[in-house]
Amino acid sequence: MARRTADPDHGVDPRILAAVTASGQRFTRHKAAVLAALAAGEGPLTVDEVVEASGAPTSTAYRILAELGEAAVVQRVPGADRTDRYELDEAFTDDHHHHLVCVACGSVADFAPGAAVERAVRAELAGLAQRYGFIPDRHVFDIHGTCADCAG
Ligand SMILES: [Zn+2]
Ligand SMILES: [Zn+2]
Repeated sequence: MARRTADPDHGVDPRILAAVTASGQRFTRHKAAVLAALAAGEGPLTVDEVVEASGAPTSTAYRILAELGEAAVVQRVPGADRTDRYELDEAFTDDHHHHLVCVACGSVADFAPGAAVERAVRAELAGLAQRYGFIPDRHVFDIHGTCADCAG
């Protein structure tokens, strides 16, 4: 089969494409640009940052982020301020990470936890079903503090 020269899926991860389509959503140029912006982000992005990186109008970016949230492709990351931030769900990035949340400026940065921490968390989660009848799916583990810029 000949290799396509034009990519109608905008080069988006086929797993994301499948999740978006499965939730009954249309796949648009702006949606692809928002996904690319989130994928390229150093950490969770604010709507303003998504707008800047994707070129999508602000109202469109809000709608797209809500739609991608409904499709469980994008997660909203709570910070220490009132600004919502967004990132791709870990199911689509194969990059498990935690967040460093600055309580002074509100910045949110990714950080990779050590293997020992992850082992300890997994062991703890394994006991949840037994103790609470709760079936764990994933964990979110954010550290609140002061970033280097604000501490300096
Ligand atoms: Zn800060
Ligand atoms: Zn973890």
